[in-house]
Amino acid sequence: MSWRLALEDFQHLFYPRACRLCDAALMRKEEELCLSCLYALPRTRSTLQKDNPVAKVFHGRVPLDFAGSYLYFRHDSMVQKLLHQIKYRNKKELAMAIGKLYALELMEEGFNAPDVIVPVPLHPRKERQRGYNQSYYFGLGLASVFGCECSDNVLIRTAHTATQTRRSRWSRWENVASVFDLKKGFLPEKKRIVLVDDVTTTGATLESCVRVLQQGNASVSGILTIAFALRG
Ligand SMILES: [Zn+2]
Repeated sequence: MSWRLALEDFQHLFYPRACRLCDAALMRKEEELCLSCLYALPRTRSTLQKDNPVAKVFHGRVPLDFAGSYLYFRHDSMVQKLLHQIKYRNKKELAMAIGKLYALELMEEGFNAPDVIVPVPLHPRKERQRGYNQSYYFGLGLASVFGCECSDNVLIRTAHTATQTRRSRWSRWENVASVFDLKKGFLPEKKRIVLVDDVTTTGATLESCVRVLQQGNASVSGILTIAFALRG
């Protein structure tokens, strides 16, 4: 075992690791991103404020203790590049690293760790195509710092959103609302659940998930996402 560890330890000498955003060679303690990119990320730093822009998206829609995002998203920005790497370039470790960074920031601000992190699921066909659910890996990063579980065994996506086009307006709404379901055998057991996803935009997807969980008597305390998309 010891020689394996030693080999992994020195692997970066032979295969230099590069920052996922600027391609600079990473220093030994840097994980996925270099220090200067890390400092340049546009953090919201407002997750625990009641009236932050993400929390406002959900006001009057579903009851939550908090909702927040780690970063602000703008088109043609480093956050767009970061999300692209996470979603389409197979960079699961980057999603995990972002989850860890966000969780550390939240813990410093006095955040109460949840019992379970639940990622918004992809449709199984989409997950097969991509090979992974990026929100699950973001959740794993959060969970590793919070010391809790990240479970992809709670929610299931039951319909593919692309099938909505031929339906009437009313049934389309119904279809959106019933895209998610609880997996068989899920027991809420008074667990404090935090729902996670990659981006908050209109909040419609996250709202559907919260409703499904609450209908199953689960206690959803809040929502955490990687980025919040500013309008315009
Ligand atoms: Zn960099």
